[in-house]
Amino acid sequence: MRKFDVVVIGGGPAGSSCAKRLAEGGASVAVLDREAFPRTKLCAGWITPEVVDDLRFDIQSYPHRFNTFKDIVVHLKWFTFRLDSPQHSIRRYEFDDYLLKNCGADVFRHNAKHIEKSNGAYVIDGAFECSHIVGAAGTRCPVYRTFFRELNPRARELQAATLEQEFPFDYGDPRCHLWFFDRGLPGYAWYVPKADGYLNCGIGGIADKLKARGDDIKRHWNHFTSVLHEKGFVRGFEYAPRGYSYYLRGNVDVVRVDNAFIAGDSVGLATRDLCEGIGPAIRSGYRAADSILNGSEYSLESIGAFSADRGWVRTFLEFMFARNGAGAARTGTSTSS
Ligand SMILES: Cc1cc2nc3c(=O)[nH]c(=O)nc-3n(C[C@H](O)[C@H](O)[C@H](O)COP(=O)(O)OP(=O)(O)OC[C@H]3O[C@@H](n4cnc5c(N)ncnc54)[C@H](O)[C@@H]3O)c2cc1C
Repeated sequence: MRKFDVVVIGGGPAGSSCAKRLAEGGASVAVLDREAFPRTKLCAGWITPEVVDDLRFDIQSYPHRFNTFKDIVVHLKWFTFRLDSPQHSIRRYEFDDYLLKNCGADVFRHNAKHIEKSNGAYVIDGAFECSHIVGAAGTRCPVYRTFFRELNPRARELQAATLEQEFPFDYGDPRCHLWFFDRGLPGYAWYVPKADGYLNCGIGGIADKLKARGDDIKRHWNHFTSVLHEKGFVRGFEYAPRGYSYYLRGNVDVVRVDNAFIAGDSVGLATRDLCEGIGPAIRSGYRAADSILNGSEYSLESIGAFSADRGWVRTFLEFMFARNGAGAARTGTSTSS
């Protein structure tokens, strides 16, 4: 049995940021991930300036692809306009590996299945023991399943379904494009160029709304790729998209039970408007670590439920998403017992 102060399950942005802060604070930390890194993570790989700040990310010394857009091109029904909002793109295959390798924790490849609490300690599959455990393993996180599912059931109406593909591509248009609510999609489609000839194209929408209409995300994918072809964004490419589903920010009541914590997608923290989950994952990872290190409350109050936070952009997106997407926001709190 290997013993640590804290075991973090999941080595994505929530897990690696939590582990880094814990290790910096002097805790002995293990991160368990079922995949060998670098690993593929389905994600557009758009990151905000806040993510760069939160990570204290040194762009100059980052050894992988990093792209900066000075604005975003938005397509909405018959209108196309530019949102003056500098943003960045990375490849998750590279970014997550970089964060995990630099987190300062011991990393193990381990598919965590069974977690039990015995004599005040958490035991994972009879192989790891710790006084504190952090669930950061995404939608199907075993810590969520074991300690939080009953207390914090997932809201079906906040489940996002996605299809996407990232591939090497000699793109002509280097800007980031978003298409909102095209042909009734309860969400949006994206074209996100990465540095050095990689491209990510995908769509996401509220699964429940699609189902209620007898609609299908694949139908929207076929339409989207035909738009990419017709408008000259991507031609002559054979797609093989993959899907993943995750939960947007809902009524998060319980994120800590005794010394068990959840962070990132295992809570369901992606924003209601743009389904942005990397920033909330990192912040919640830090908040969980602070709580473990200082005994402070683990609260998600400082993690916003919307990406767009400025004037009319926010009002407009909240209105459009209330009509077409996942509706109004609620914020999260924590309890400990
Ligand atoms: C198609 C798509 C596009 C997206 N685009 C964006 C975007 O552009 N920008 C953005 O901010 N957000 C985006 N998101 C959301 C974002 O990807 C997630 O919110 C974010 O990855 C959450 O981070 P996390 O660390 O909580 O979980 P993850 O990144 O999912 O990491 C969880 C880790 O846990 C591991 N794991 C799972 N189960 C176990 C287990 N039983 N034992 C051990 N390890 C386990 C997994 O291997 C994985 O490495 C997108 C999501 C999708 C699906």
